Amino acid sequence: MKYIVLFGPPGSGKGTQSENIIEKYGYGHISTGDVLRAEMQNNTELGKTAKDFIEKGQLVPDSLIIDMLAKTLDGFKTAKGIIFDGFPRTTAQAVALKEMLKARGGDVSVMINLIVSEKELVERLLNRGKTSGRSDDNLETIQKRIDTYNNQTAPVIDYYKGEGKLANIEGIGTIAAIFEKICEKIEAV
Ligand code: ADP
Repeated sequence: MKYIVLFGPPGSGKGTQSENIIEKYGYGHISTGDVLRAEMQNNTELGKTAKDFIEKGQLVPDSLIIDMLAKTLDGFKTAKGIIFDGFPRTTAQAVALKEMLKARGGDVSVMINLIVSEKELVERLLNRGKTSGRSDDNLETIQKRIDTYNNQTAPVIDYYKGEGKLANIEGIGTIAAIFEKICEKIEAV
């Protein structure tokens, strides 16, 4: 089973490219952002806690995310592969993921890192905010999310570099051209 980590700052195209990967390879998809938004919609305890962090542009605490991920992962036992979208977002989450996959006899196959300039990210997210209905797609929260990414999430790149799993991809260009580069990385592992 291939385990693909799709990584990048907010607005880098993880969600869009995840859809392409699912369509082409039939992999299971785990988006921690989507799971959290569903929890918020259903007004669960986790959703209520998460909302405060998300609207401030902060990360939801690792312990909550790791528990949530473990439960979600169990639903994908028969998948050919799994895409992790928006997870791991801290080195502690990356270490937890390694342990969870080890317990299933696996490991991350490749970490695909989408590289996009900050200026482009802000533009894309502001644009998305016009239609997404997401309470975190506004200028103030976008800027905090990018700071959070730089401070807490970017170090995950070094973690996967150390594991020999890092694959950098320029996330600027057409969606189709970027997807082609992603496919090459997925097929090489
Ligand atoms: P984006 O990539 O556009 O920031 P996501 O939908 O992946 O959007 O995540 C939205 C928010 O949900 C994040 O800003 C963060 O607050 C929270 N979140 C999502 N995934 C995680 C995670 N793995 N760890 C902590 N918080 C998370």
